[in-house]
Amino acid sequence: MKLRKVSAAAATALVLALTATACGGDDGGDSNSGSGGGGDKIKIGIKYDQPGLGLKEPDGSFSGFDVDVATYVAKELGYEPNQIEWVETKSADRENALSRGDVKMIAATYSITDERKQKVDFAGPYLLAHQDLLVKADSDIKEGTDLNGKKLCSVTGSTSAQNVKDEIAPKAQLQQLGGYSECIAGLQSDQLDALTTDDAILAGFAAQEQYKGQFKLTGLKLSNENYGIGVKKGDTETVNKINDALEKMVSDGSWDKAVKENFGPANYKHEKAPKIGQIVQ
Ligand code: GLU
Repeated sequence: MKLRKVSAAAATALVLALTATACGGDDGGDSNSGSGGGGDKIKIGIKYDQPGLGLKEPDGSFSGFDVDVATYVAKELGYEPNQIEWVETKSADRENALSRGDVKMIAATYSITDERKQKVDFAGPYLLAHQDLLVKADSDIKEGTDLNGKKLCSVTGSTSAQNVKDEIAPKAQLQQLGGYSECIAGLQSDQLDALTTDDAILAGFAAQEQYKGQFKLTGLKLSNENYGIGVKKGDTETVNKINDALEKMVSDGSWDKAVKENFGPANYKHEKAPKIGQIVQ
């Protein structure tokens, strides 16, 4: 049974690979978009399960800071909101989605790192977040090192999981799932002791009506996470256009407005707008 499942998955992967090859060179934008943008559609990768950042609402609409940033940028590139096709890009899928040309850009709590820069290019940064821990309101976990031996959840392909393994708590029992929403249930039912990722993401979960009062953030600032917009490696033209759009978004007040609307309800104390090209190590 298990074997059959594996071969079915392998067959799907093969079909996908062949399809990608057959479509060769699709850049995530509409085929008649040309280099200046403004074609029929633009495909943009976001998260679907992160309230306040990238969320697919029950009615099929999309909300969050990443969604607002991407919508603003797309407009500057010549695409109206109804020309955007949102695509879910989970943490572990982002580099491949860009390399394959599944999407033109990704705005999905995507930290700029040297390792990722080997495979993709980044515009930005457009937000500075920090890795933190989400624990039950009555938990006595206060430091990263308190996690050693404890059950911790994070997401495959994230800097959060990597940082835990490399330095924060190498002896924690780390479970890596596909998305952060999958970790929340385990934390709520005491199967997990903590969930770790960026404070901006955790604040969004903690503020959800059904979780109110149940969890707390430790406020540890375990890392600096500089959110960038990922594009295909070598697409300097798009990087430059996105950077111009991000600068405009900050200077015309739209960045502040998006921050207030999306992080206000979660009471997330965000950092000020980063300068384009300035990575906080
Ligand atoms: N910002 C971190 C990262 O890019 C964690 C959040 C995420 O998984 O998207 O890996």
